[in-house]
Amino acid sequence: MTKQRKTISQNLKYKLFYNCARTCCVCKCQKNPIQIHHIDNNPSNNIYENLIVLCSNCHDEAHTDHKLTNNLTTKELIHHKTLWEENIKKLSSHAMLPISISNCAMWTFINYEKIPRILKNIGLEFEKIEFNNLLLKNVIDKNATPIFQKASDDKKYITIYDRLEWDNATKLHNMYMDAIDNLVEYINPLELGAIWSKIEIKNLVNTGDICFAIRGFHFKENEIKNNKASRYIYATSKNIEIRMYANTQYIYGDSALYGHFSGHSFIGILMLIKEIKTENNKLIINATPLAMSSGVSTSYKSPHQLKYGWKTSVWSPT
Ligand SMILES: [Zn+2]
Repeated sequence: MTKQRKTISQNLKYKLFYNCARTCCVCKCQKNPIQIHHIDNNPSNNIYENLIVLCSNCHDEAHTDHKLTNNLTTKELIHHKTLWEENIKKLSSHAMLPISISNCAMWTFINYEKIPRILKNIGLEFEKIEFNNLLLKNVIDKNATPIFQKASDDKKYITIYDRLEWDNATKLHNMYMDAIDNLVEYINPLELGAIWSKIEIKNLVNTGDICFAIRGFHFKENEIKNNKASRYIYATSKNIEIRMYANTQYIYGDSALYGHFSGHSFIGILMLIKEIKTENNKLIINATPLAMSSGVSTSYKSPHQLKYGWKTSVWSPT
């Protein structure tokens, strides 16, 4: 009996394509068109584990039964898929770290409210010695929330430099930067630039997800409430818009405040997705910034092909 072919859902299709960076899991070539193959040759078995992305050549090979030579057996296909997806995960999360983007890049905005909660939820911790040092000095409480020691009511814009002694601000910042790097490598955030189409974003991104975007963002002054200033941040392309607000007191110093996070600036943002909605045919992504890296260069190398419409990655598999 021939098995009935069932349509693979969009959600599954885009997930498969994203997880292998649109690259054949066997030969890793990016020249031939990619297709989805059923590992057990049953076209009605559309579970994630039974599907693999192959190029047209390898797909032919998988359907060929050689008597004497090795063709792509079920076991081999599963092995190729597992290793390749793992490799893409590592490469893409590593690409998001400031140190991989440029020598002078670093997380110069850190959301001190959200990061400790997220780390706790997924079971990650701050570096113990640094944490205890800062706790003893009363720079943080036991939840790693900063205890700001200086009031700066006379200044329009304040950063953590204005709220802490310089040395304490640096130590706090370093501890959080390391924790954010660990978080990125642990969760492997979805790279929005790689799925920059309404249909893919709708299928792959959910409220509560942590995503990463590196591109030009616009920064605008926002009204000041209770001496708290914030920046409105947005980026639009192809009828998709990312929107968020950043509290300026979480910015690390004046050069980031007046330089990197003002006007139009090329930066990396790690963000928590709050809402995805359609407004006048435009897809709006409302997010909360968790960390923003400045000093980044356009030589960003991701295994994913960026699709913002202004840059493609120059990465090739080795
Ligand atoms: Zn191939």
